[in-house]
Amino acid sequence: MAATAYDPNNIFAKILRGELPAHKVYETDKVLAFMDIMPRADGHVLVIPKTAARNLLDINPDDLADLAKASQFVAKGVKRAMAADGLTVQQFNESAGGQVVFHIHVHILPRWTGVALRPHTGAMENQDVLAKHAATIRSALEAMQAGG
Ligand code: AMP
Repeated sequence: MAATAYDPNNIFAKILRGELPAHKVYETDKVLAFMDIMPRADGHVLVIPKTAARNLLDINPDDLADLAKASQFVAKGVKRAMAADGLTVQQFNESAGGQVVFHIHVHILPRWTGVALRPHTGAMENQDVLAKHAATIRSALEAMQAGG
């Protein structure tokens, strides 16, 4: 099947351009991390590259490496901030692979022993809850950046 082109009007491209709001937790010149609005677990964060890429199949390998490094850093901060026992990391490719938003993103899902994930793209979270989790995660990441 032919490759599908990147759509610059996808939701995450709009967040990158500041056209849609997001609860941001981490940003560099290469990546942005923000709260998933339909979290499958409390503290569910998405990490995206600033480069235009649809998914794993078209992203430039150097940009993928930057995304992987940032995902590791954010994952450690999420685990610490949310006092999680572990993490699930997911990344979907094309509709058949479960992808809904066509700008590559890495899901960072904090996990606690015995706590099941909620459904994918299930219920919209309360904005105050998202803001609270974002603040906690931002603080943990800032402490890590400061060497803590
Ligand atoms: P997928 O493409 O299957 O990895 O799923 C897209 C993810 O993006 C889902 O977990 C959605 O809850 C999430 N999502 C959709 N719109 C937004 C948005 N405006 N802000 C944050 N997360 C979103």
